[in-house]
Amino acid sequence: MNSIVYGPVPSWRLGRSLGIDLLCAPGKTCSFDCVYCQLGRTTNPTTERGEFVSIGKLTKELEEIKDIAADYVTFSGTGEPTLASNLGQAIELAKSILPLPVAVLTNSSLMPREDVRENLAKADVVVAKLDVHNQELFRQVNRPIADLMLSDIIEGVKHFKSKFVGKLCLQVMLIEANKTFAREIAQIASYLSPDEVQLNTPLRPCAVKPLTPSQMASIKSAFSNLICPVVTVYEAPRPEVKPLNLRETLRRRPKQCHCE
Ligand code: SF4
Repeated sequence: MNSIVYGPVPSWRLGRSLGIDLLCAPGKTCSFDCVYCQLGRTTNPTTERGEFVSIGKLTKELEEIKDIAADYVTFSGTGEPTLASNLGQAIELAKSILPLPVAVLTNSSLMPREDVRENLAKADVVVAKLDVHNQELFRQVNRPIADLMLSDIIEGVKHFKSKFVGKLCLQVMLIEANKTFAREIAQIASYLSPDEVQLNTPLRPCAVKPLTPSQMASIKSAFSNLICPVVTVYEAPRPEVKPLNLRETLRRRPKQCHCE
């Protein structure tokens, strides 16, 4: 079986990010099939939570790297991490073994579920995806599993934010298809009152082209009504890091991850 822990990888938002992939299944397990996904097409589309790796195996892997130099433990990997039903237990375990804050990168799709919000609340930082402002664009950009409704997801994130004591960041991936809706997306971001907004564009090779620095700067101005910091991927420094296991790291980031 492949290893659960990979990296550290350089993350534009989290510095040296030690990855944990609780899915570890062949292909990609996700509730979305985003047009810009660097992992290719979703091979295991689902919204059902399940246990993909055991806590015993994760314990063993984390015990072996207790002294790792990293800034964050980040739950991400080969799909949507909240699909792992043992996410909450895994976050607690990571905190008990490594002296590092924990982040989760989520596509927000399961935020309407109370069990998922409870799991995510154990993290120090949650980075939640919000790329669109309406259902039609949601279908076009994120290509969700049929019954997922954007309005439910937005209310789920709102509910989560109202209780969460950690840092909630919204990540907006901007591409040709959604770039003209920056104001509408900013309005939803304002409603959600995150602690930070991260404006991203796919800089690494994938099926769609990234926006230019000037396009991103103009989009950033549409978010100027927010009271929280708004950062773009072009402004961020990237730390130099040496991964624990290059093969495992490249398997999760064949062309480097857009989400980290
Ligand atoms: S970018 Fe993230 S949410 Fe979108 S399909 Fe890929 S893994 Fe799933």
